[in-house]
Amino acid sequence: MTVRAKKHLGQHFLEDESIAQQIADSLSLKGYNDVLEIGPGMGVLTKYLLKKDTTTHVIEIDTESVDYLKNNYLHLADRIIEKDFLKYDLNLVFEDKPFAIIGNFPYNISSQILFKTLEMRDQIPEFSGMFQKEVAMRICSKEGSKVYGILSVLTQAFYDAEYLFTVPPTVFNPPPKVDSGVLLLKRKENYDLPCDEKLFFRVVKTGFQQRRKTLRNSLKTFNLSDNLKANIIFGQRPEQLSVAQFIELTSLIENDEN
Ligand code: SAH
Repeated sequence: MTVRAKKHLGQHFLEDESIAQQIADSLSLKGYNDVLEIGPGMGVLTKYLLKKDTTTHVIEIDTESVDYLKNNYLHLADRIIEKDFLKYDLNLVFEDKPFAIIGNFPYNISSQILFKTLEMRDQIPEFSGMFQKEVAMRICSKEGSKVYGILSVLTQAFYDAEYLFTVPPTVFNPPPKVDSGVLLLKRKENYDLPCDEKLFFRVVKTGFQQRRKTLRNSLKTFNLSDNLKANIIFGQRPEQLSVAQFIELTSLIENDEN
């Protein structure tokens, strides 16, 4: 018995064992004892994780997949969380301990998976897995690139992001419409930002809402002083600013006397 793929859960099962192994091997397993796989499905990736010197947990929303895992991976049974990753309080399991995230993720919730990871960054030193290629490239892209955006800046403020390799639709059942891409995020040694972190998120999100406009225009709602707005950084468009410059911009806004 195998699991019948359900579209609304973003189910595309990976059938290439060597790709599954390559993804599992991408984590360093250093600095933490637990790994959480999001959306294990029938466990193609899970079985390689279980061979490693780490404690593997999985979170899966689909009852049919959970039943499959319970029947086929007996040792995993106690570490299957049958919940929605986006809604579940992970500290009920991890109790503030660090853990890595891995998965061939459900593509319909890619950005939300990443945002939740960023929120929990204090506990997540490493993150590896598969997204739609376009999303994976976006997360890893640098300023000046057409696809550079909110996900790139917010992720790279805290993590070093590396695009590992592309995966074609043919290795999945059913095949998705687009290519997939595997990426690896490693948390920076010092990931405390030298500016107000909440304000940083707001500045980046607001700045990119109108990516064609200068920051002077798109950040109007921040009520900045004329003096500050004269700074040349405000003449730039968001896609031109590096992560370091977004941090600098946030500090300037934070210290604006208005
Ligand atoms: N990792 C498997 C399955 C990938 S498909 C493989 O590579 O073959 C994506 C998986 O994520 C599916 O099993 C789906 O049921 C699960 N999923 C979808 N939304 C989820 C959510 N919100 N929380 C947890 N799992 C979810």
